[in-house]
Amino acid sequence: MASATKKPRKRRRVTQAMKDRDTASRTAANETLHAYAVACLSDPAELEQFRSIAASIGWKYDPASDDPGYSLQNVALLAAQRRPLTHCGGFDYWLAQGRIVAEGERSLGTFRHIGRKKNEEQAKEEELAKEGWQSTKPRRPRYYMKKGTFDVSQTVPRERCPHCGTAPAGPEDRTTQCPPTCAVFAPRPGSKPPRALAVELMQAQLQDAEDEGEADQ
Ligand SMILES: [Zn+2]
Repeated sequence: MASATKKPRKRRRVTQAMKDRDTASRTAANETLHAYAVACLSDPAELEQFRSIAASIGWKYDPASDDPGYSLQNVALLAAQRRPLTHCGGFDYWLAQGRIVAEGERSLGTFRHIGRKKNEEQAKEEELAKEGWQSTKPRRPRYYMKKGTFDVSQTVPRERCPHCGTAPAGPEDRTTQCPPTCAVFAPRPGSKPPRALAVELMQAQLQDAEDEGEADQ
């Protein structure tokens, strides 16, 4: 589960290079997601694994809510980057769990929606709609890529593991891992998203990719 602690946001100048990097990582993420959606829609076993991953790492219906858990789109994006997944969190989350990101592990990316802007725009559009106006502006995705998520399999015990007793060799040791049978790696109980909802999400990924392609031409 992702850490729920909110840090105060720092404002920083957004340069063109930063924008380009973000566009590139978003494009890469959308391509990864698209391929994963195709796999899930063509292979029932892959779709079932997706539902199990969602149940284990935690998911929520409303992506904009502050509830714990990942949006289904983010579950798909995480699963597209690494499988299997059983328990995800950020660097600090794992420290709080008595574990640390293992040496050489690269973080997984998730989409972060730019909530406030979206809400303001939505409110304005709703008001215009009431007056009989319709928006002609194509809806562009209002999100950015955020790195920093790790699966439990990418972490090692920082202190003696309460499940299996594995302990690091020293304070700098970030390679001593629990055995694969350690309970820390076991899928966690949770409810699976309805199958129809999972299918709908995967189909939406194909549609989004088409829209993005058209908009970029
Ligand atoms: Zn262990």
